[in-house]
Amino acid sequence: MNPPSLPPIRDVIQRHGLSASKALGQNFLLDEQLLARIAAVPGDLAGQRVLEVGPGPGGLTRALLRAGARVTAIEMDRRCLPALAELGDAFPGQLTVIEGDALKLDHGALMDGEPFHVLSNLPYNVGTALFVKWLGGENWPPQWNSLTLMFQREVADRIVAAAGDDAYGRLAVLAQWRAEARLAMKVHRSAFTPPPKVMSAIVHVTPSAMPEGVSARMLERLTEAAFGQRRKMLRQSLKGVPGALEALAALGIDETRRAETVSVAEFVSLARALS
Ligand code: SAM
Repeated sequence: MNPPSLPPIRDVIQRHGLSASKALGQNFLLDEQLLARIAAVPGDLAGQRVLEVGPGPGGLTRALLRAGARVTAIEMDRRCLPALAELGDAFPGQLTVIEGDALKLDHGALMDGEPFHVLSNLPYNVGTALFVKWLGGENWPPQWNSLTLMFQREVADRIVAAAGDDAYGRLAVLAQWRAEARLAMKVHRSAFTPPPKVMSAIVHVTPSAMPEGVSARMLERLTEAAFGQRRKMLRQSLKGVPGALEALAALGIDETRRAETVSVAEFVSLARALS
């Protein structure tokens, strides 16, 4: 069956009066070829469940629907709901729209406990908070099979950085200790309407095995302490974590090193020793 023909997104925006709101982090993508490439990042989505945060006028949503995904979209701006309802009519049974704040909703429950992929051109102001939420918790593997997310280029670099890189920090460890994170695509600022001040990039994350004997809470605590004072030596920054200095010695990690030189594997060993 051919996918239904749809009006250009620019027309949808105009017809529904969807002037971009800065407060809601609205920078829309209009190029359907680019949107199709983003929707293809996680692989074949036919019949798969997808959670999209912030569909706005529905550019990425229509690319996901054309790929055959069953989409649940959370949107905070009720001005967008009529445009999304039209899109739902064009793809019967494939789109569910929830009006609300994605930071406050239980995503697993919204997806009825079924596995799902997350794809989103995230609002920059909530992107990192959502990312940390998806990566957190003791339950692993998570209910999501992949995350395909737009970030400011600088944040994307921080997510995929390795120890020793300037961008390496807490976000890299949280993203990599039990998942694989890669830069899937760079996106020029001119691709957005209106164009933001900064460049963007798509990050693709898939869960990997949970390292045995490590508590997520301990790993989070360690990275928070270590990178909270990233220029300080570990013997100073980890002083407040009981047992940490003894664990450093037992593992042969020099306590005069700084957090930015400690690899993801070393953080995992340290968290295991303290878990
Ligand atoms: N997906 C569209 C696109 O690619 O053109 C719009 C992307 S725009 C960068 C971000 C969207 O997220 C906006 O539609 C905005 O209203 C919505 N949004 C902002 N904060 C949100 C939140 N906390 N929960 C759900 N949606 C939110």
